[in-house]
Amino acid sequence: MTRTTPPPPRVVIVGGGLAGLATAASLVDRGLRVTLLESRPRLGGRASSFTDPTTGELVDNCQHVSMVCCTNLADFCRKVGIEGLFRREPAITFFAPDGRTSTLKAGLGPAPFHLGESFLRSKHLRWRDKLKVAYGLARLALDRRAGEDGVEPFADWLWRHGQDVRTMNLFWGPVLVSALNERLDRMDPGMARQVFVDGFLMNRSGFQMEVPSAPLGELYGARLETWLRDRGVEVRLTTGVRSIDPEPEDPSAVGSVTLRNGETIEADFVVASAPFDRIAGLLAPSIRERLPDLDALRSLESSPITGVHLWFDRPVCPLDHVVAPGRFLHWVFNHTALQGRGSANGGQYLQVVISASYDLLWMTKDQIRDAVLADLAEMWPAACEALLERSWVVTEHGATFAARPGVATLRPPQRTPVDGLFLAGDWTDTGWPATMEGAVRSGYLAAQGVLEDLDRPEKLLRPDLPPDRLARRLLSRRENRRDARFEPDFEETAYEPTGGSET
Ligand SMILES: Cc1cc2nc3c(=O)[nH]c(=O)nc-3n(C[C@H](O)[C@H](O)[C@H](O)COP(=O)(O)OP(=O)(O)OC[C@H]3O[C@@H](n4cnc5c(N)ncnc54)[C@H](O)[C@@H]3O)c2cc1C
Repeated sequence: MTRTTPPPPRVVIVGGGLAGLATAASLVDRGLRVTLLESRPRLGGRASSFTDPTTGELVDNCQHVSMVCCTNLADFCRKVGIEGLFRREPAITFFAPDGRTSTLKAGLGPAPFHLGESFLRSKHLRWRDKLKVAYGLARLALDRRAGEDGVEPFADWLWRHGQDVRTMNLFWGPVLVSALNERLDRMDPGMARQVFVDGFLMNRSGFQMEVPSAPLGELYGARLETWLRDRGVEVRLTTGVRSIDPEPEDPSAVGSVTLRNGETIEADFVVASAPFDRIAGLLAPSIRERLPDLDALRSLESSPITGVHLWFDRPVCPLDHVVAPGRFLHWVFNHTALQGRGSANGGQYLQVVISASYDLLWMTKDQIRDAVLADLAEMWPAACEALLERSWVVTEHGATFAARPGVATLRPPQRTPVDGLFLAGDWTDTGWPATMEGAVRSGYLAAQGVLEDLDRPEKLLRPDLPPDRLARRLLSRRENRRDARFEPDFEETAYEPTGGSET
């Protein structure tokens, strides 16, 4: 008599954005059958590129940057072998309204005071602005309950703590609107605090940017596809899922997914990592009714980002990247310097970002492009003489969930009450804003859940950057963080630096 061994458990991942990719990457080589289903013809989700039909080159939907404090994204990039395709930027350059530039970089002193020296030298703020900002920062850092009422927007918190229009326009806005993709008058104070505390104050290098040196389509598209396929993951592109269905005999357990073409794929586990506004529509009614947490997603809103791509016939911007407080445009990234692109015939390729671009939704693409060009002409005279050879204006209306007050209460956990069904995506409860780091964290948490259910528990979530001793003593607020459950003590965990080279 021959005994047949049952096939290994099958995990079906719905959505090939960073959350789905992180889930897949952490489940390979574990004897599972992993299938990744993505409705578009490419992987990467919101962090992807499109092909310019005239030149055939990859153009990112928008510039994506991360910070050194994004330890799980760094771990993911290391795991899949793309860590060398990022440049670590030790300083953030500010372009003052009067044309002077200054840089924010780590100087003397331990965190949280390591940025103090360069902040005091910054040229876009006057001395009285700096004093106000320093006071506001100290109050924010010490306000461990900021945002807990779930009602007050951060702009109101700032007014209550001595800030004015100047400090909001020249300091708080430029840092936070880009980081959280939300306006100050609609922003959750708890998330604002998290950006400053975890990103800028806890660790000397946490604020440094990691900027891709290759298009997103190459990073999270082609390379990831090859890496996953080489490790046995079945990657199916242009494969939309119509519904996630229960076991025929047991409505409390997930059993299969049905594709838009009618095909059914049986599954022991399903990780649903589609965007938050699609997820409920993918669930069979008997599953949907077991997930009351998803009702709150109806109150989750989206926030737009606009990216403007400009190819000039000559160099216009003398910097690699710059943030421009008080202007229509927010950031300029020089892709000729960062990625060596657009330099044929001596030209320059710039990517401009405008976050939380609600006010641009009524403008035409030409109007947006012209407003950006007007800013560039004021910033650098070369832009007046340069010929604009081509351009793209891309507004992603649903770029991120809106980081409004109380948003934390709307985000469901990765584990659901339905056996075998997990959620992933930057919108799930990770304690992080809608970022690549948040998406990867959610994927790791979903994969952790799968392994737990297989009685092979393993910690996949990486620890935060270790805070400097003084910063930890002054600022720590671990008790409210979702990942605190996985990190019993800062001192027990060691941070491994990523591949980004520090200059
Ligand atoms: C313009 C822009 C700029 C940004 N800038 C930054 C930045 O600088 N730094 C940063 O950290 N983050 C940035 N973000 C946010 C970041 O891109 C996201 O947080 C992250 O990529 C989300 O990943 P995700 O996997 O959660 O979701 P998504 O990337 O949305 O992935 C979901 C996937 O599911 C697929 N899908 C949907 N429905 C189905 C279905 N029925 N069947 C199969 N597949 C389906 C979608 O096609 C998609 O590929 C930016 C986002 C945008 C849009």
